[in-house]
Amino acid sequence: MNILKKEDNFDHNIFFEEIANIKKDYIKNGFVFISSSKFLELLSYLGVSNSELDFLKTIGNNLPPDPTLKFRESRNGRFFHNNSQGFIYRTEFQPFVLSSSEDFIRHDSGQLRKFTGLSEDLTRNAAFQGLLRIKNLIINNISIHPRPNLNYKTSDWVTTVFNLRTLTSKDLLGEPALEGVHSDGVDHTMTTILGYENMTDDSAITHIHSNEEKSGIGFSQTKKEYLLASMRHKNFLDTVLIKDNEHKHSLSPVYQKNEDKLANRDMLIFFTRKPCVEGHVSFDYDSNEPHPDYPVKFNVQ
Ligand code: FE
Repeated sequence: MNILKKEDNFDHNIFFEEIANIKKDYIKNGFVFISSSKFLELLSYLGVSNSELDFLKTIGNNLPPDPTLKFRESRNGRFFHNNSQGFIYRTEFQPFVLSSSEDFIRHDSGQLRKFTGLSEDLTRNAAFQGLLRIKNLIINNISIHPRPNLNYKTSDWVTTVFNLRTLTSKDLLGEPALEGVHSDGVDHTMTTILGYENMTDDSAITHIHSNEEKSGIGFSQTKKEYLLASMRHKNFLDTVLIKDNEHKHSLSPVYQKNEDKLANRDMLIFFTRKPCVEGHVSFDYDSNEPHPDYPVKFNVQ
């Protein structure tokens, strides 16, 4: 990979033109695939170095077990986008909950889940911060179908980031979305691949369904007329962005190429929504206090 460091002659025009093009597609379709090469180009405009990019590829090697899913390793952390003052920062720890009223139907729906926090190696990485900054630029100032009990009067956002590894062995099938057809209870879901090993080409395909599709069913039960698109994260930083309240999605499992070895798939998932108001399932877990032990703060542009 040969990424030029363009920080010194940052070309605002090209960078913002590229963001505007992605935004146009996103507004038109309600979802957009951003290729690895496009993301690498955007990050290079932000001055992200090759070593910072390379580091992201290894971050999935140091994840603890997931609190509720056996085939997954995970960490998470929350970020507050203060768009009126132009910065994003990490918030204090909050438990995480998704309920069936948000079209998330799984054995742990409604359960308060406590994940191990993201490592500082990740949150201080310029490539990681660049992903959040670029997402922020794409989702700002576009209309979305609002969810109940979120505050759409503010320009701020709350993002919960998951660093996930899905594992498949001979005995256990790794399902990136065990819940079948679902939404993530947010406004904008972004999924970015960091890497994979021993995974077949038909693994982990993202399907986008119209909201008429029934939640909680497997892909084989879905209706063709509700299927809007299918796409696959293949190269480092291939990304899918979905207006989460306007479309549902599902994913195929992670299959092993060689059954004697584990298959794995490493992702960053960015769940972004407006701050909660009273009545929302996450209202009591929506702090915007900075993280007391591992604070991180960076400018939006
Ligand atoms: Fe999802």
